Amino acid sequence: MHELSIAYNLVEIAHEAARSAGALRVNAVHLRLGALSGVVEDALRFSFPIAAVGTLVEGAALVIEPVAVQIYCDHCATSHTLTPPFVFRCPVCEQPVTRLLHGRELQIESIEIEETETELDRGVYATAHS
Ligand SMILES: [Zn+2]
Repeated sequence: MHELSIAYNLVEIAHEAARSAGALRVNAVHLRLGALSGVVEDALRFSFPIAAVGTLVEGAALVIEPVAVQIYCDHCATSHTLTPPFVFRCPVCEQPVTRLLHGRELQIESIEIEETETELDRGVYATAHS
């Protein structure tokens, strides 16, 4: 599955970033996902926890920020947002689209890491050992 290999790739990036920051774990990965990225969001959500097993990313939330398709129309000399189904014509003047500004994004925007044990974790630990 295409999304599983993407998930492994994202997990690896987040894991390495967290490890080099000395983090205990990753709490969340924020991802910018363009409508034309070719990624099936549900499949990626399904694959992410599988790919994260055994890494610092295990248990992290995958927060997906959808990115709309935005084009620049040379004819109108302005940018427009396209809505599905994506017909690559300017929604105003209907000229063919030549420039895509946004919509192909598949990038990690930020990673939330945990650097020290939280009060909650200590509480659980104390309970387990009392
Ligand atoms: Zn136009």
